[in-house]
Amino acid sequence: MTATFDKFLELSNEEKDSLRALIEKIRMEPELSFQEYNACKNQVEYLTGNGFTVVTPYAGFETAYRAEFSFGSGTPVFAFCSEYDALPEIGHGCGHHLICGCALTAGLSVKKVLEQCRIDGKVVILGCPGEETDGGKVDMAKQGVLDDIDALMMAHPTGGESVICGEYSGVCSAEVTFTAEKTGSPVARVSNPEFTNPIDAQVLLYQAVALKRHYMPFDSAISGCIPDGGVRANMIPKQTKSVYTLRSSDMNILKELSEMFRNMAKGAALLTGTQVNVSLSMRHQPTLPCPALRDTYLDNMAALGFKTPESRHIYYGSAGTDFGNFSRIRPGLHAHFPLGKKIAAHTAEFAEFSSTDQAREAMFSAGKALAKTAMKYITDPDFRKEAGSAFEKKG
Ligand SMILES: [Zn+2]
Repeated sequence: MTATFDKFLELSNEEKDSLRALIEKIRMEPELSFQEYNACKNQVEYLTGNGFTVVTPYAGFETAYRAEFSFGSGTPVFAFCSEYDALPEIGHGCGHHLICGCALTAGLSVKKVLEQCRIDGKVVILGCPGEETDGGKVDMAKQGVLDDIDALMMAHPTGGESVICGEYSGVCSAEVTFTAEKTGSPVARVSNPEFTNPIDAQVLLYQAVALKRHYMPFDSAISGCIPDGGVRANMIPKQTKSVYTLRSSDMNILKELSEMFRNMAKGAALLTGTQVNVSLSMRHQPTLPCPALRDTYLDNMAALGFKTPESRHIYYGSAGTDFGNFSRIRPGLHAHFPLGKKIAAHTAEFAEFSSTDQAREAMFSAGKALAKTAMKYITDPDFRKEAGSAFEKKG
């Protein structure tokens, strides 16, 4: 079967040209999370013009969409996730326009195979806004967007030469305010012993976190900053605010970390005589690995000439993604593809390099590898079972 549909997985030169133009348009007009109006509109027009049925706005988001193409019975259903939000100041420094191009490449390829080879199945492209901030997929998941989808994938560009096979941590965000009852000039504290200082409390909490880092469980991290620490050297502020991100590959450890963090904040308040308010919110769940999809994608990338890791054991980096919440509902893979140059994400250089032919070719290849993996899922019941069984073990 593979040999018969393999040739349809390759996009034509015209199809590649139109996709290059689309993603360059998105790159040149970077839009922040949940404001990706033009990026969404351009994709919707493109997919409608290419024979997909598209719904937008979608799942309560003005800049989300769902595009689908169905053949025969319309099952199994495989989805690709597109992302397209940019970062402040550096535009597409995370290369999300390439994620979009990769999803559309994969979607078009699978559509062609289903049509040309008359294979039962459905391909869906989910346009997912706001990955860089709160994570649109968190709410999309709650809205049931995966209800009729069997499995899903996406691929993110990275710097370097080799395909990475890492998983993503769960992320919890925290906001901490310390409030003083009585404040005034710091130099007046001698005659006003009732003064308390919410800056001191923030410093204590920050240092407690720094010391705790030595004893944190493997695969866990806490980082933070104090965006509101007063305005004048000669005034004790009434209130200060800090923000922290807590990460772990294990949801139970993340809960423990959250409790520990809350206690540290309470301790800092006790020591400084201030009032504390800790607001903790779970953002992204850790990605649940799906070895079947991951290994097939890596094999497909290797067959296309990419360097792939020798060891495929699961490791968690400290990064998080809202795809983690999707991966807990259906078998899924948040894959990567290398741009062939050592370059750091979230930089202006990354945004610049992502417009090169080299970067776009890597995107087309990754899209093809995703499509080939999806076709294996759609046509091979044993593979579907294998992908599902790892998923069922999540407990
Ligand atoms: Zn990103």
